Amino acid sequence: MILGSGPAGLTAALYAARANLRPLVLKGIDAGGQLMLTTDVENYPGFPDAVLGPELMERMEKQAGRFDAELLHQEATRVDLSTRPFGIWSGDEEWRVRTLIIATGATAMMLGLDSERRLLGHGVSTCATCDGFFFRGQELLVVGGGDSALEEALFLTRFATKVTVVHRRDRLRASKVMQDRAMAHERIGFVWNSVVEEVLGETVVRGARLRNVLTNETTEVPAAGVFVAIGHTPNTALFEGQLDLDAGYVLVREPTTATSVEGVFAAGDVVDRTYRQAITAAGMGCQAAIDAERFLESQGR
Ligand code: NAP
Repeated sequence: MILGSGPAGLTAALYAARANLRPLVLKGIDAGGQLMLTTDVENYPGFPDAVLGPELMERMEKQAGRFDAELLHQEATRVDLSTRPFGIWSGDEEWRVRTLIIATGATAMMLGLDSERRLLGHGVSTCATCDGFFFRGQELLVVGGGDSALEEALFLTRFATKVTVVHRRDRLRASKVMQDRAMAHERIGFVWNSVVEEVLGETVVRGARLRNVLTNETTEVPAAGVFVAIGHTPNTALFEGQLDLDAGYVLVREPTTATSVEGVFAAGDVVDRTYRQAITAAGMGCQAAIDAERFLESQGR
């Protein structure tokens, strides 16, 4: 069984299906994962003219389904990894599985604004590596004060004329080395003690209204893009206490995808807090399927 239907889950499904393992995929409620929230994907190999995130996921699902993968639009609500076969539940429905691949992904934390949701993929982004290229010669905002925010800001200076980091306090959470690097950069500026009250723009982002949390004063700043970099939450609540996790991410025995429970493998953003790319998740999904296949073989299956 495979939990999750982002690039990691669907690639694992494709490989497992082609290895004749007849995988069952519980797609989850947010089927397709984070790519469903993006527009143009220009960095997935094989699509020289870019592909829309949802279309890429549809193609991956179709490809897995072409072989013998069964995909259910259901979410696992409980798991028992203490005995093999493992128990997986979706509401009242129960499965017993010999091996499990966890590809439940991570969720980018958002500010929770209606305007942010509406303009996601239209100027609002949670991934500079993915979307920075679209903002050549423009002004950008980055929200957050941790390492992610500064890393995104530094990356975005390759394209943007100016990057403004908006942070809710007057002190950064980021490591000293990242702070020094960002502070020294001539195209990075900071707005302190401020939050984004609204992302401005009808169909595309044209700026943001910021509110100073100390004075309550609001200002409108122009920007073609707003990068929200306030952290990610790996989707692992289901596995707490059953698998070794590190800050919520599933720990794997690198270079394999084996977790602390024999027969359980994990792939994609639920493991990876470093690269977070569709292609790296897909690669890891392939590894997990091969690991699962070898595990089953070692069990005489
Ligand atoms: P993080 O360290 O948790 O920082 C999140 C930042 O977002 C904080 O500055 C926080 O503000 C702010 N924030 C959270 N919720 C917010 C909200 N609703 N509105 C406005 N601001 C909000 O997350 P991260 O930067 O993603 O880093 C996660 C971990 O990965 C860290 O351990 C980090 O060191 C590591 N990491 C390392 C690197 C690197 O070394 N190159 C790169 C990326 C990440 P407060 O400060 O006020 O809480």
